[in-house]
Amino acid sequence: MGTAGVHFSDRSHGEQEQNGVQTGLNASQLAELLEKLSSGWKESNRLDVQVLRAICRLSVADPEQATDGFSAMDVALEIGRLRRHGWSDCTDKDRVSDDVRRQWNKLLELWPTKEEGVRQALCDVGADVVPLLNKVEGGGAGRVTRYRIEWGAANAKSRAKEAVEPETFGVAGDVRYVCEDIQDARFFVRVLGRGYRLEGWRRGLLLGAVISSIVIFALILVLVLVQMLYSKSGADRHVWSSAATLFVFGIVFWSTTGRILRLADRKIVVAPWWMQSVDDDRLLERREPPRFGDRSIKAVRYATTCPICAGKITVKTGGLEFWGRLVGRCEHSPVEHVFSFDHVTRNGRYLRSVELRRE
Ligand SMILES: [Zn+2]
Repeated sequence: MGTAGVHFSDRSHGEQEQNGVQTGLNASQLAELLEKLSSGWKESNRLDVQVLRAICRLSVADPEQATDGFSAMDVALEIGRLRRHGWSDCTDKDRVSDDVRRQWNKLLELWPTKEEGVRQALCDVGADVVPLLNKVEGGGAGRVTRYRIEWGAANAKSRAKEAVEPETFGVAGDVRYVCEDIQDARFFVRVLGRGYRLEGWRRGLLLGAVISSIVIFALILVLVLVQMLYSKSGADRHVWSSAATLFVFGIVFWSTTGRILRLADRKIVVAPWWMQSVDDDRLLERREPPRFGDRSIKAVRYATTCPICAGKITVKTGGLEFWGRLVGRCEHSPVEHVFSFDHVTRNGRYLRSVELRRE
């Protein structure tokens, strides 16, 4: 993989053109890839994502125009084709400009949460670039605002994060995970989605929360033990009620903070229930040097496409069968289409075929 970045929009630069050949993908192919990626997002039917998809499709269809960008009208008409029925009022230029601008701004809000996954997917095909969403304001009369995707160099810092090359990838039946965003209105998930940096007071706060919950748990345990020691009969009602209390506290403790404690040795765990949405596919990942620039805890979701049925695979708990492990489970066949999961290499192997070979 070339170390220098590639600016496809800058065609005058010979060296960069050469690097473009090295990545094996031109701007149209990159746009095609981005369109394919974004069509697989959960939000793919949202209008802001369709703005992105429309620009990608337009860029593929007309590579010459892609460097200048496309007008709001071009984008709106393409969205109409995407949705198979018209969008916005294409007889009213101002209305179309407003509609596209509004969706573009929403897209810019969504983009930071998608960036990492897009970069990983591009990295997987050997393209050392990142898409930059660019709008050129029209300004004066007659000049319309144009929307385009530029391809910039993936910066050195983000490249350093991808120290592991997909060496083991490529065997039939294997999958390659992409790290997805976590979007949620809930405070903790929002904070962790951006990455909770373990420095200064944040580190103290997290440690404080963990330590205080351990202390509370230990105190209750001691109280129950003392009560047991001083009660005359083991069948004492108080002891049993205390033991029941302890049991309940134990469950509450484990379900709220226990999994977070495992972060220390596991590095990646299923997020506790209060951070989950309906899918139970949220993970907490501990990131630290040298793989990452700084120490942090991040809420993430890893996903890929099932090679068997093209369903969406997300990483969840291994359950009783794969005790203590995280596995990729397919939405269509969560029990049979099961893949291993390694958050460092992002590779996964079909777990069922391994068992068949053993028989
Ligand atoms: Zn499947």
